[in-house]
Amino acid sequence: MTEPTPADPVFSGSFTQQEPIPEAAIERAVAVMRSGRLHRYNTVADEVSETALLEREFADLLGVRYCLACASGGYAMQLALRAHGVASGDPVLTNAFTLSPVPGAIAAVGGRPVLVETGPELTIDLDDLDAKIADTGARLLLLSHMRGHITDMDRLGRLLAHHGVALIEDCAHTMGAAWNHRPSGSFGVAACFSTQTYKHINSGEGGLLTTDDGDLMARAVVLSGSYMFHDRHLAGPAPVAYGDVSLDTANMSGRMDDLRAAILRPQLAQLAINAERWNARYRAVTETLDGVPGLRLPHRPAAERFVGSSIQFLCEGLDPADAQALLARCRRRGVELKWFGAAAPAGYTSRHDHWRYLGSQPLPATDRILAGLFDMRLPLTFSVEDCRTIAQIIARSLAEILAAQPANDRTLGDAPSARTVDGAGG
Ligand SMILES: *Cc1c(COP(=O)(O)O)cnc(C)c1O
Repeated sequence: MTEPTPADPVFSGSFTQQEPIPEAAIERAVAVMRSGRLHRYNTVADEVSETALLEREFADLLGVRYCLACASGGYAMQLALRAHGVASGDPVLTNAFTLSPVPGAIAAVGGRPVLVETGPELTIDLDDLDAKIADTGARLLLLSHMRGHITDMDRLGRLLAHHGVALIEDCAHTMGAAWNHRPSGSFGVAACFSTQTYKHINSGEGGLLTTDDGDLMARAVVLSGSYMFHDRHLAGPAPVAYGDVSLDTANMSGRMDDLRAAILRPQLAQLAINAERWNARYRAVTETLDGVPGLRLPHRPAAERFVGSSIQFLCEGLDPADAQALLARCRRRGVELKWFGAAAPAGYTSRHDHWRYLGSQPLPATDRILAGLFDMRLPLTFSVEDCRTIAQIIARSLAEILAAQPANDRTLGDAPSARTVDGAGG
């Protein structure tokens, strides 16, 4: 390996450093702390809690009736599944390409995750979905818009309607995104968002559950641990919806507190602006990587309005040793790539076959995709210029690896080779 020459671009920013919390949010949080009333139901007179206000503002932003703030995105998914009525042993369809809390939420409610294959653009494979609905008789899809890639929601809607399968959306990476001008999170019976540090608004931990279904929301509110304070919600159903629900539903305590809600409300007001800032960074990377030999960028359909808070690219045909070499070369130049083909889970990056508790589910198409899939966060602390430098580093590092391959071994750009499939093991 040659060492980087002085003319080599090198990057020194941190891939895990988010922007500071806005001053307005800090002031609001300090005011909550000064009051001592951090619990969402600890209000005086006709005071409305920060959590109730956040819920109302988020429901309005999304254009839905109801919203409940809770402890995490994973918890929001558990609530949605439970409130929808998933029972022990029920099969629940979900993407094979997603983050571990998604099958984890299904497992938490006693459901049986059925993983669906991944298409070439990183979205759920709708043909495999069709087949697995028929095979398993599953009545629910927990759809993960993983890394912000939105499938053809029109085709998906027709397919689910045809089979009578309900949809819950995992919008951890699509807060602020849309399909055909309709907000991501408004397509199913419910949607779940995360306000964890690496998502689009940051309260450390936190989740938001949205729905237009008053009965589902009444169950979710009680499940979250509402202690009979339903009247202190601004984005919940009318009291009549609670009826027997309050008596028939367990308290599975997982509320949001007013400190986090106070931090989130001013960030919500910045969401649209930040989406533009992320997309400017995303474009800086894709413009530089577009056309680089051996590398493919997933296609983004015109109907999709995405938030480019991370970027993925595929090097189909790169063998595992060369993929590791690409990671190493980029790392030496300060660029932290994640690779979904690694044999063992690392950092946040794990893969369906690392979730051994699910039992073995053969997913050859997903394995082929993941073997060549690289992933990178684009925090807003990076400038647009930084993003160009990062992309140049990736392009240069990849070119060096391809140049070092024996001529008869250059399989890049071809259909995934047998060597790729080998790399998917582990
Ligand atoms: C982050 C994330 C979640 C929710 O995660 P929490 O850490 O529980 O807030 C759900 N789905 C995906 C795809 C995620 O990346």
